[in-house]
Amino acid sequence: MNAPDRPARNTLRLDELPIRNSFAELPPAFYTRLQPTPLPDPYLVCGSAAAAGLIDLDPAEFSSREFVETFSGNRALPGSTPIAAVYSGHQFGVWAGQLGDGRAILLGEVEAPGTPPGTLELQLKGAGMTPYSRMGDGRAVLRSSIREFLCSEAMAALGIPTSRALCVTGSDQRVMREMPETSAVATRMAPSFVRFGSFEHWFYNGRKDELKILADHVIDRCYPELRDDKNPYQSLLSEVTRRTAHMIAQWQAVGFMHGVMNTDNMSILGLTLDYGPFGFMEAFDAQHICNHTDQQGRYAYSMQPQIAHWNCYALGQALLPLIGAVEDAQAALEIYQPEYKAKLNALLQAKLGLQTSEPEDSSLFDAMFSIMQASHVDFPQFFRKLGDLRLDDATADAPLRDLFIDRAAFDTWAVQYRSRLKRENSQDAPRRLAMHRVNPKYVLRNYLAQVAIDKAQEKDFSEVQRLLQVLERPYDEQPENERYAALPPDWAAHLEVSCSS
Ligand code: AMP
Ligand code: MG
Repeated sequence: MNAPDRPARNTLRLDELPIRNSFAELPPAFYTRLQPTPLPDPYLVCGSAAAAGLIDLDPAEFSSREFVETFSGNRALPGSTPIAAVYSGHQFGVWAGQLGDGRAILLGEVEAPGTPPGTLELQLKGAGMTPYSRMGDGRAVLRSSIREFLCSEAMAALGIPTSRALCVTGSDQRVMREMPETSAVATRMAPSFVRFGSFEHWFYNGRKDELKILADHVIDRCYPELRDDKNPYQSLLSEVTRRTAHMIAQWQAVGFMHGVMNTDNMSILGLTLDYGPFGFMEAFDAQHICNHTDQQGRYAYSMQPQIAHWNCYALGQALLPLIGAVEDAQAALEIYQPEYKAKLNALLQAKLGLQTSEPEDSSLFDAMFSIMQASHVDFPQFFRKLGDLRLDDATADAPLRDLFIDRAAFDTWAVQYRSRLKRENSQDAPRRLAMHRVNPKYVLRNYLAQVAIDKAQEKDFSEVQRLLQVLERPYDEQPENERYAALPPDWAAHLEVSCSS
């Protein structure tokens, strides 16, 4: 669900959006109908014209009062049927029972012609309490809403499957977190917000009829090509497993860490979903934990591939009553490892500018990660500068080499890398171009988000919008925005992000 091939027409007024809610056509056990809780005196914090383009919405609408009121939950979008969905899930490896949309309200889906399956659901996050709020207040804070907004749009621009973000609205209404903060509502878009945990919910409640209704709903809307397969539920599990493996390979290749890979945060479409304490790898440490409440490091960078596989097993368990034989579920799950490895390998090959594949490449990659680890090299800068390497001029390596504390280790690896490039007659100029197309110069470093958030908390939203613009072109040289590619300042070393804010 990334940028459509077709140019966006961006012509629709807000009230012209053709909206319906097919999830609300499922039996009532799947959701609760309710209205968002009004947000006092809301204002627009930021909007994504690219996201608006996906649903042909005219971004000029962002500045209308109706827009702000609608996406704060204060005004009904004509044709919408607001609901909160029920789901369950495993949190940190433990069955957590019923969770559900505790602060998200689904308005319905809108046509999105260039985006399979042709519709995008609109969901308000932070729109007030629901029957699934448990101990929560149903709200989201400005800080986390801006982070979700920027990261969704940044991931889409990187070409990584993700939910999208249309806008954030804010209010001076205070909510209590570790300290008082102001509330905000983020409007998200995805073809479906169904999670692995949506299936687990019906499985653990022993409700096979509902399980089947949900699986049929997802297949009919999002995987119609699987409908006529011999065992469409097994096909669904294989396809979700495959997409999840590919998504995780893309996360690893760009250094993205989700932070809370609970099964209720895993999209049935293999999209990056529910941005919370996420982070992008900067000083490389494979054991890095971006969520400071994850003391065991269950969701550390190096753990993500195996955790995602574990999550696919949880989905497989839930789908088993529909699939039938354990061996069939097992067969679907077994594709995870080969799919993940093949995808990661292809991505690493491209990141290193290799056009061919050799059996020894894995040792080249391993050696690279081990010198990056030893020197805690900045992840985005390393790969970006690697593209500037010249085959016959090691003096040009200085900016790259200077990233390493252990320069000798880099030199040793560079000899291996150069000889590998020479074996395939690699040419500097085209390799540089190709590498810069896959190694982003600009990623959402924590401190960049924090600077934009600090200003936004003072009601200056310009930096959020500016940062969005930079992140929308992550692979381009943007000489005027060079500072957004810089290493984090010292104060950023202590930034901490935790769950659910
Ligand atoms: P998360 O860790 O953000 O994916 O959230 C896990 C569960 O807690 C989901 O069911 C959320 O809807 C719920 N939740 C998180 N924050 C809040 C909140 N402030 N109010 C109500 N429910 C929340
Ligand atoms: Mg969640």
